[in-house]
Amino acid sequence: MTFREFQERFSTEAACREYLFSERFPEGFVCPKCGHREYYCIQTRHTYQCKRCCRQTSVTAGTVMHRTHLPLTVWFWAMYLCATDKRRVSALGLARHLELSYESAWYLLVRIRSAMRDRNQHYLLDGIIEMDEAYLGASKHVKKRGRGTDRQKIAVMVLKDNSGLLKFVHLQNIPDIKTATLQNVVNCHVVPGTTLECDGYKSYKGLKNVHVNPSKYTTGDLKWAHVAIGNFKAFLLGTYHGSCGNIQPYLDEFCFRFNRRFQPTQLFSRLSRAVATSCALLS
Ligand SMILES: [Zn+2]
Repeated sequence: MTFREFQERFSTEAACREYLFSERFPEGFVCPKCGHREYYCIQTRHTYQCKRCCRQTSVTAGTVMHRTHLPLTVWFWAMYLCATDKRRVSALGLARHLELSYESAWYLLVRIRSAMRDRNQHYLLDGIIEMDEAYLGASKHVKKRGRGTDRQKIAVMVLKDNSGLLKFVHLQNIPDIKTATLQNVVNCHVVPGTTLECDGYKSYKGLKNVHVNPSKYTTGDLKWAHVAIGNFKAFLLGTYHGSCGNIQPYLDEFCFRFNRRFQPTQLFSRLSRAVATSCALLS
């Protein structure tokens, strides 16, 4: 979608609401409480009331936009900027472009990244996967390196296509690299029975429900896993130093963008769909 097309299509609250409605209820309205399909429109409150159980709902209820005080046009501008900026959009940049306070821009970014995370969770990796771990940020102990470090630990999984090229990435912040932790990552994101290529580290040996590739097991050639984490570090551009909190939202945004890198023109529609169908943030 070009800048002009975006501007024309999403210039009013009503237009944004209509778009969210079509993304949220692609087959027509469905009551979130009882599943009934007939409803009344309550124009003054921009809500839809179920004809059977009288439950009122809106296009933002239960999503990351739940109870937002920001206009929908601002949400759409934020999504558009996130989708069209090839680099990472910062809260400061968003605040400047949209003439918002830093807090409002941060509020938007946290929720947009959460929607990206929700969408990333939809996919299970199925095929041949390279798995490795990576470290990020500064260590408190200069001498401790490698697997004993206290730096941020990231589980790296990359799915390869039939030609052995990088297809899909999953990056996840993990507290440690014990077998139980890695098993949890595998259980949540990999189809059982998948082939996993990893190095000879002991934590990988105990993994269940996956086949560990013996040739890679000894050589430790995890080229695409290294490429993925290299790309993530470039994406951060040195702005993250390990002491400023949660790295996972940055990983979520990177994976969402990277896995759609061959469809850059569709990124806005993918992102607005992700936001429209997301789950509300708990806190
Ligand atoms: Zn109902």
